[in-house]
Amino acid sequence: MGKTLYEKVFEAHTVARLPSGQVQLLMGLHLIHEVTSPQAFSMLEERGLSVLFPERTFATVDHIIPTFSQLRPLQDTLAEQMLVALESNVARHKIRYFAPERGEQGIVHVIGPENGLTQPGMTICCGDSHTATHGAFGAIAFGIGTSQVRDVLASQTLSMAKLKVRRIEINGHLKAGVTAKDVTLYVINRLGVNGGVGFAYEYAGDTIERMSMDERMTVCNMAIEGGARCGYINPDQTTFEYLKGRTYSPSAAQWDRAVAYWDSVKSDADAVYDDVKRFRAEDIEPMVTWGITPSQSAPVTGQVPEMGDFESNEQESVKEAYRYMAVHPGAPIAGQRIDVAFIGSCTNGRLSDFETVVRVLENGNFKVAPHVQALIVPGSMKVKNEMESRGWDKIFTQAGFEFREAGCSMCLAMNPDKLIGNQVSASSSNRNFKGRQGSPTGRTLLMSPIMVAAAAIAGKVTDARELFSLSGS
Ligand code: SF4
Repeated sequence: MGKTLYEKVFEAHTVARLPSGQVQLLMGLHLIHEVTSPQAFSMLEERGLSVLFPERTFATVDHIIPTFSQLRPLQDTLAEQMLVALESNVARHKIRYFAPERGEQGIVHVIGPENGLTQPGMTICCGDSHTATHGAFGAIAFGIGTSQVRDVLASQTLSMAKLKVRRIEINGHLKAGVTAKDVTLYVINRLGVNGGVGFAYEYAGDTIERMSMDERMTVCNMAIEGGARCGYINPDQTTFEYLKGRTYSPSAAQWDRAVAYWDSVKSDADAVYDDVKRFRAEDIEPMVTWGITPSQSAPVTGQVPEMGDFESNEQESVKEAYRYMAVHPGAPIAGQRIDVAFIGSCTNGRLSDFETVVRVLENGNFKVAPHVQALIVPGSMKVKNEMESRGWDKIFTQAGFEFREAGCSMCLAMNPDKLIGNQVSASSSNRNFKGRQGSPTGRTLLMSPIMVAAAAIAGKVTDARELFSLSGS
């Protein structure tokens, strides 16, 4: 009987079976950042331990970094202290740090792949929920808590229970203007925010196979929002092409051996899954969230659902969503006024995410609506530099967008980029929880980058396909 990629990678990294029934799993790559690592380093040092595999640990600063100016010392003294703590920990433990002053910094889930650190068949962990992003390469990648960060620093292992595997198959051609973000929001809408609890999600099907690595990362990034512990896509030629020549990718001499191994970890054709769900790409429309969880979404052509559309155990959350978001059942999704537009984050802060927007801006005389503040926040300094070298910064600023420095920015608003009061934000990020974007009463509408751009220009939620006359596939 064949095996899934998850089973193969899990078994290859099993160090020991623990009396608890859990498994001690070796972590091939540990990514750290300034928010969840300081306490872990303190706990490590309290026990007189050092980092076991500093060469498998890589650091960046992303959550707290300002996007207006990264001049030191940072204006926010708490942020400056966190950055100083990170700098001192990485120096003391000889950990490779992707530093802003060397032009290397970026969101942890953007810099891993762009430097070739993320590779098929790996186990990867990071103290951030959206570590599932790295699964796009056929890695098994987990978000972990602070005490687990300590454990991995000390032992390079994690204790984990084995997950079930659900294959999510999407076949067919996406309509023009429908993106990977819409695919992942659609799947979460269909399976629910708790539908994936206890599962690893394997995304498959010809729609997924045709996706670029950036698109695959967008899909896997939000596996966690559907309750799955991780999400992955079997590696293929697209994966190998992406990795070729990157800083930490295997050298030319080791390349063929690496590809042979990467090929061998793919799920077998006769692999047995605990569950299979199938969706048609043609059924997917541009999705917009109307509520306070990523599953509370609807097509831009649709309406806010009625209470009767939900199971009784969901109705309390739906009621709270109506109240918090100040929306009414039956109200059209399109037309809701927005105050802020944010394109960035580890879900949609890569070069191709901005390219989709640049292409429409350069072909039309579009301007951000006067009442909207629109932020363009590259996912890494590399992405930012590449955008500038192509002149995209000027295209964005001429259209009325603010072109910022790299970081997490308004995804979590741990830096100065925050909503004010009950502002409504059209956001390409991954969470629309209450208060997520920095104001306790701020409201977030998740959507794709092209849909955020359309909302920024129209000043309200708008079908990007109509505004930008998108057609073809
Ligand atoms: S962009 Fe958002 S989800 Fe991604 S690492 Fe930063 S805060 Fe976390």
